[in-house]
Amino acid sequence: MNLNSKAVHTGDRKRVPGQATPVATPIYASASFFYDSMESIDKVFAHEMHGYAYSRYDNPTNAALEELVTALEGAHGTLATASGMSALQIALTAALVDRKKHVLAANAIYGATVKLLQQVFEPFGTTNTLVDICDLDAVAAAIAAEKPGVILMESISNPLLRIGQIDKIAEMARAVGACLIVDNTFASPALLRPLELGAHISVHSATKYLSGHGDVVGGFVCSDAAHHEAVRGLSRIYGPILGPFECFLSMRGIKTYPLRIERQNQNAIGVAQHLSRHPKVAKVYFPGLPDHPDRATTARLFPAGKFGAMLSFEIAGAEKQDIFQFFDRLKMVVPATSLGDVHTMALYPDIASHRDIPPKQRARLGIHPNLVRVSVGIEDLADILADFDQALA
Ligand SMILES: *Cc1c(COP(=O)(O)O)cnc(C)c1O
Repeated sequence: MNLNSKAVHTGDRKRVPGQATPVATPIYASASFFYDSMESIDKVFAHEMHGYAYSRYDNPTNAALEELVTALEGAHGTLATASGMSALQIALTAALVDRKKHVLAANAIYGATVKLLQQVFEPFGTTNTLVDICDLDAVAAAIAAEKPGVILMESISNPLLRIGQIDKIAEMARAVGACLIVDNTFASPALLRPLELGAHISVHSATKYLSGHGDVVGGFVCSDAAHHEAVRGLSRIYGPILGPFECFLSMRGIKTYPLRIERQNQNAIGVAQHLSRHPKVAKVYFPGLPDHPDRATTARLFPAGKFGAMLSFEIAGAEKQDIFQFFDRLKMVVPATSLGDVHTMALYPDIASHRDIPPKQRARLGIHPNLVRVSVGIEDLADILADFDQALA
């Protein structure tokens, strides 16, 4: 099956002979499960027989969703977690268990991920270095100098939408025994499947494109065969699992994910082209525009004609109060934190996603105070353009 068919079928409708099969996987709101003999539960606890015993370990609703995401990502196995951040924490922990406690991370990485490295992992003895992941020479030099146990990057960076060469970085990681973890939240599996490009673990904020309706906070850890058991083993101990209700919502959302991503990608091209011709717009950052620095990488790694549905733009000469005015004028576009939803959303990195980065460092990263980030939704393109035009006027 291809992605469109997997999205609606995988994980659902396990037939049991002689019994009615529900067309949608039910919400198993049960903490534990029992059997008609103690021998059976003994075998389940011993992993000699597949079955459910306790929902911190495993739950049928979670299992259905995890099977679905495993298929979409081309992974060996998936763990559904309580948030994208808990997915990153468990992926990093599993990868570092038997490796040198040094993380080489992309410098343009989600703010909370930087905090996770600096405020959670560092106090336990893990060190880290930040590098420009799009500069392969710099990555090679950092690998040689630091001998990292883990390399951590995002498939599309936030908010300037840079795209690193995952396949080449995977080769470099494998040559030194490092684990490559890719946060694939921004690209999502219709555009890119990191494990097929050589990464060991792919992580998602399920909150974003996959669930897609702004009603779930969740995460996924999609691992290769070498790491999946470590991830699940850790989860059995400290339990950052997604609840069965959120698993149900997420699975319901994923059924239309391929349709949504198709429309969002198409709309994003229209929005990027329109804004790049707009007299009030100084610059548009979008991998589909001819001036994007990673256009060649995008063409190599993404399906033809797809560039993702995230873009950023600078409003010419705008200062903070002008940016606030632009946001306050938006009528349809939602000025809320998050991305990947059915509705178009706009965010001001300076006060939201990149608030904790000192202004000088933001400037060094090329994130200027007149930058606006947009997650393009599935509305009619003309309505999105009209809303931006009236807010920019
Ligand atoms: C949102 C996001 C996260 C964190 O996910 P939560 O579900 O909010 O915990 C991690 N990485 C990226 C790239 C994100 O956009």
